[in-house]
Amino acid sequence: ATGSQSRTFEADVAKLLQLMVHSVYSDKDVFLRELISNAADACEKLRYESLSNPALLGDEQKASIRITLDPDVSRVAVEDNGIGMSSEEMIEALGTIARSGTKAFVERLESAAQQAESSQLIGQFGVGFYSTFMVADKVEVFSRRAGSDVASLWSSDGKGSYSVAAVALEEAPARGTRVVLHLMEDAKSYAESFTIEQMIKAHSGHVPVPILLADKPDAEPRQVADGAALWTRPKADIAAEDYTDFYRSLAGQFDDPALTIHFRAEGRQEYTMLAFVPGSRPFDLFDPQRKGRMKLYVRRVLITDEADLLPGYLRFMRGLIDSADLPLNVSREMIQESPLLSAIRKAVTGRVLSELDKLAGNDAAAYAKVWENFGAVLKEGLYEDFERRDALLGLARFKTTTSAGEWRSLKDYVAGLKENQTAIYYLAGDDAKRLETSPHLEGFRARGIEVLLLADPVDSFWVTSALGFDGKPFKSVTQGSADLASIPLADKAEEPAPEVSSAIAAFLAFAKTTLGDDVSDVRASERLTSSAVCLVAPDQGMDRRMEQILASAGR
Ligand code: ADP
Ligand code: MG
Repeated sequence: ATGSQSRTFEADVAKLLQLMVHSVYSDKDVFLRELISNAADACEKLRYESLSNPALLGDEQKASIRITLDPDVSRVAVEDNGIGMSSEEMIEALGTIARSGTKAFVERLESAAQQAESSQLIGQFGVGFYSTFMVADKVEVFSRRAGSDVASLWSSDGKGSYSVAAVALEEAPARGTRVVLHLMEDAKSYAESFTIEQMIKAHSGHVPVPILLADKPDAEPRQVADGAALWTRPKADIAAEDYTDFYRSLAGQFDDPALTIHFRAEGRQEYTMLAFVPGSRPFDLFDPQRKGRMKLYVRRVLITDEADLLPGYLRFMRGLIDSADLPLNVSREMIQESPLLSAIRKAVTGRVLSELDKLAGNDAAAYAKVWENFGAVLKEGLYEDFERRDALLGLARFKTTTSAGEWRSLKDYVAGLKENQTAIYYLAGDDAKRLETSPHLEGFRARGIEVLLLADPVDSFWVTSALGFDGKPFKSVTQGSADLASIPLADKAEEPAPEVSSAIAAFLAFAKTTLGDDVSDVRASERLTSSAVCLVAPDQGMDRRMEQILASAGR
C-alpha cells in the first residue's frame, strides 16, 4: 500500500465502536447479515447507474456476492462486484455515521442505563458495517469503484483510527468491494463453513443477489442463495419464515412483522407490493424528517428508497414496490414527479389502510399491538389526510374512562352513547394516568358517560379539526358548559343538581369580582360531583390542553 494515511474516526463512530465492542451482546452473528446487505446494496446501485452508463458493467454483467473462508488463519472475506468505493467515498462512508437512525441509536445506547439494556438495543437495531468489530480485531476493505482504474484499501483495528491507501489493482476486486475480517480468538467459528452457511440461509437467503460460498481460499465456490427476488414468487409458494427472513434483512429489524402485505396489482398500473408492519417500533419513528423506508424497484432494479411511496403517517412501514410500468431509464428526480407514481401512491396507501382494517377485524389483539406501537403516528393522518380521515378514524383506538385500560374504537364508543348524549367527549393531556383523576371527569363519571383519554401530543391537533365521527362531534370536557343536565345520573340516589341557590349565587358573584379579568365567566356546573371548582375553556375557544401546548411552544 502506498501513501497510507491514518485518520481518526468521527466522535460518534468512536463511541459506537466502544459501546459495541464492550457490550455483552451475544448474537454477534449480525455482522454477516450487515455485510451481505451492504454488498447487495452495492450491486443494486451499480445496476441502477449502469442504466444510464452501460459501460460500467463491462463484461462482468451478473451481480454476485462471494464469501470466502480461511479457517487456517481465522479469516472471512465478503466480496461483491457492485459499485465499489473510491478512497474519498470510503472516508465518508466508513469513518462517519451518516444514517440519522444510527445517530439516534447511539444516543439511545448512551442513555441506556444498564449494559444489559444497551446490548439488547444492538440486537434490535442494524448497526451496519461497524458491527464487524464485534467479531474482528482487524478489518480490511479493498475496493475499486466501477469504471475507475485505481483501487484503495481501508483498514482499521476499530480502536479509534483507520487508514486509507492506494493499492495495486490485483489486490482489489476487478470491480466492487472485498471486506476481510481477521477474526478474534473467540469468534473463530465464523471461519467454519457449516456455521456461515447456516447464517446465510437464516438471515440473508432472500437478498436479491446470488450468494456463493467457498470453504477455503482455493476451494470451488458453491451457490447457497439464489438471489431470486422473493416478491416475484407467487404467494402460495412463500412460507411465513421466508417473509420474516426477508423482512429482517430488508428492514434491519430483528423482530417478527406484525402484518405482511403482498399483492400484485394488475390493470391500469402493474406493480407488486411487499410491505410489512414491524412488530416493534423502529428507532427513527419520531425523527423530525419523518422519512419513509419503502423502496421503489422498476422490474427488479432498485431505483430509490426516497420516493415517498407512502404518506408520512405510514412511515413505519417497511418494504418495497416493484413497478412494471415506470421507465427504467428515468432519473430519481423525475420519478418523484411521475403521475404514474402518484397513482400508485394513492392505491397503496388505501391498500395499507384496508389491510390494517382487515387485521383489526380478524385479530383484535394483534391489531391492538400495532396500534400500541404506531397509533401515535397513524393519528397524524387525521389532520394531514382529509381524504382518508374517516378510514383513519375507523382504525383509531382509544383508552377511555370506562375501558379499563383496553383499546376502544369510536364505533364501540358510539354504540355505548347515553340517553340524550350527542357528542363524543374527550380529555386531552400529556399523562394518561393523571388524566384519569381529573376533576373535569366527575360529572361524566356520575352519568356513566365514557370519555376518551387523549395523551399523545398529536391528539390536540386532530381532535380540534376533526368534524366528528358518525355524526357526533368531538367535544372537550374542559370546554364550555358540557350540557350534562339533560343526561340522567347513573345513580339516581345522587341528588340531581338543585336550582342555583342563593348561597351559590353569592359565591359566584364573589368569585367573579375577586378574579376579575383573569376569567371570562364563573358559573355553577353539572360537571363536578365532589370537587368544588375546576377551570374550563370557553365554548368557542381552544381546549385547555391546546392552550398549554401553544403556551409551551412560546406562542
Ligand atoms: P448503511 O448500509 O445503512 O448505509 P453501513 O454502516 O452498513 O450503513 O454502511 C455504510 C456505508 O458504507 C454504505 O452506505 C455504503 O456507502 C458504504 N459501503 C459499505 N459496504 C459497501 C460495499 N460493499 N460496497 C459499496 N459501498 C459500501
Ligand atoms: Mg448497511
